Amino acid sequence: MPPPSSTEPTPSSPARHLGRPLILCAAGAVLILVALARSAWWLALSHDATGLTLCVLAMVLPLVGLMWLWQHVRQVREHSLHQQTELIQARARAERLEGALRCFPDAVALFDAEDRLVLASDRYRSMNPAVAPLLQPGVPFEHILRAAAAAGEVLEAVGNEDHWVRQRMIQHQSLRQDFLQGLAGNRWVRVNECRTPEGGLIGLRTDVTDFVRQQQALQEARSDAQQARRLLVRALDALPAALEIFDEQDHLVIYNRALQNMFPHIDYPRSVGRPFADMAAESLRHHAVVEAVGQEDQWLARRLQTRSTMSSRSFLQELSGGRWVQAYETRTPEGYVVAIRLDMTEQVKQRAALEQAQQEAQRVRQLLMDALEALPEGLAVYDTDDRLLLCNTQYRVMYNDLAHLLQPGRSFDELISFSVEHQHFGRAPEGGETAEDWGAQRLAAHRQPGAAMLVPMHDGRWFRVHERKTAEKMTVGVHVDVTELVQKEQQLAHANQLLATLSATDGLTGLHNRRSFDEALNAEWQRCARHEQPLALLLVDIDHFKLYNDHYGHLAGDDCLRRVAQVLNADFRRSGEVVARYGGEEFVLLLPGIPLEGAREVAQRCLERIRTENIPHAASPTSTRLTLSIGVAAWVPDGKAHAHQTHRLINAADAALYQAKQTGRAKYVLASDLRDMDLRPAPPHRDP
Ligand code: GH3
Ligand code: MG
Ligand code: MG
Repeated sequence: MPPPSSTEPTPSSPARHLGRPLILCAAGAVLILVALARSAWWLALSHDATGLTLCVLAMVLPLVGLMWLWQHVRQVREHSLHQQTELIQARARAERLEGALRCFPDAVALFDAEDRLVLASDRYRSMNPAVAPLLQPGVPFEHILRAAAAAGEVLEAVGNEDHWVRQRMIQHQSLRQDFLQGLAGNRWVRVNECRTPEGGLIGLRTDVTDFVRQQQALQEARSDAQQARRLLVRALDALPAALEIFDEQDHLVIYNRALQNMFPHIDYPRSVGRPFADMAAESLRHHAVVEAVGQEDQWLARRLQTRSTMSSRSFLQELSGGRWVQAYETRTPEGYVVAIRLDMTEQVKQRAALEQAQQEAQRVRQLLMDALEALPEGLAVYDTDDRLLLCNTQYRVMYNDLAHLLQPGRSFDELISFSVEHQHFGRAPEGGETAEDWGAQRLAAHRQPGAAMLVPMHDGRWFRVHERKTAEKMTVGVHVDVTELVQKEQQLAHANQLLATLSATDGLTGLHNRRSFDEALNAEWQRCARHEQPLALLLVDIDHFKLYNDHYGHLAGDDCLRRVAQVLNADFRRSGEVVARYGGEEFVLLLPGIPLEGAREVAQRCLERIRTENIPHAASPTSTRLTLSIGVAAWVPDGKAHAHQTHRLINAADAALYQAKQTGRAKYVLASDLRDMDLRPAPPHRDP
């Protein structure tokens, strides 16, 4: 505790200042009185009345003066004692004050009326360590300020110390309200100054560092919260969906811009805190909700009832102006209602358009299906995954064995496997031997559609399948029942084959006719020329057949011709060998690969067989039985100018035949045996 101020009264000063002079005066007065008493004694003895009177007066007056002085001294002493008592009491008070200040949590400094420091608490000193040595009684407040500013104790004073001191002095003198002061070391004090009744000043400094830091933290938190809220508001405003949140009392808490745009008749900035029912009623007054028009009260009652009990709800709502919104309302566990509204106008319009388009598509599809059903052909469409998309009734009828499988989505592979397994298909013309071969061929044709495919069924039906890929890579197949057509084709082919056979066959004998022989001769000529093989030709003529007819009749002649044909035809089975009726009662044998010697043996065998056949010919000058004459020729064709060469071969055989006739009949003659063979022209053709 600092010593008391010099302005305080000193307890011993009256005694010190008055005691000694008073004693000296009293002693002097006593001496004077003694001297006067001796003088009075003298004067009395001398009966000097005047002198005695003066002397008595001279004694009385100082005595009165001494008594007055004594009285004064007593008063002074009493005053001094009073002052000493007061001083002791003041010291006691100061000590109590100091003790109290020590217990006081705040830093305290006391200044007198002249703004000089009277005392400063220890906390005050420790709070201002830079100026603590300066804190002696009597130090002016301004000095303390300057020292603190110069030491950098006060943050706001750094760099502008003089200005700060001036401002602080003004503040100090005006005793404005308390304020915060930042100190070095990031400490904060609250400064509170107030006047004492004596005109002094008490300065209180409360360390509010923790409080200020908490305030700063709180401020930062608030700032963060505000920032977050601003961000939230911006984010909400950026949402395409309208959003509003109501508290547990169903009062509006927050909304976004999209909501304001959706319900422009409501002043949302002024509606925060407003009840939902109130806002809904306002919307109804503006006829904002189409379904509520004309029954606003009932609609609102239902709406509020539903809202109060719902936990989560979604509904589509038509608003005025042809707008549609999809609303999602959810009650949070805290009882808040979060409502989101999406503008679905475009979607609803598109959905309506889509439904219309779907109806139209359905109508077209139905039309198409009707048209497909009206088709006499079966039609099936398989999608890009080769699964059945649609088919008409005719298709099901045609493939009635697997009609139960013909459902949309069924794969083509599955259908084919089932058909192969259950032998639904007949033997494919080019489909291999097994059902699996056929299935593989059908699948390959389906996957890479090309020309129409003919599909035989196990029950004899024939389907012509024409498949092709659409632009969307789907497969469209048209299935036509062509059973009748195929059967007619088969009949026609059979008839053609029969016709061909007939056109190449001699009607009487059943042998090849002359034209067929000519074709065979040309073909075998070339073949033998290619293989450098001989080609033998035997011309056979019945001897005296005119006489046979004449003798036995023409019909018997015909029978005879048939028997001779059988005899000649009996031994020829090799490929390329041809026995033909060359004309009338003449026959020709074409023997590819047979050399002349072989041909001679054949001719010999023919003569023996006809002899063995033993056909009577009573009119023949040669024999009693029917006999034959045979001309034999055999060449290796050279392949050049074969038309001319074949004629030469025939002519050679004909010349040999002529020679046989000329030399007695019932024999064969080899053309090679003819000397100077007369290559006379071949006899004119004699058709049977
Ligand atoms: P040659 O021994 O010289 O051959 O005497 P040919 O009588 O056999 O020969 P010719 O050429 O004089 O007579 C052939 C006869 O064959 C004449 C004809 O009436 C008979 N003829 C030809 N074609 C047929 C036929 O299809 N049926 C019958 N029955 N006779 C036929
Ligand atoms: Mg003849
Ligand atoms: Mg004849």
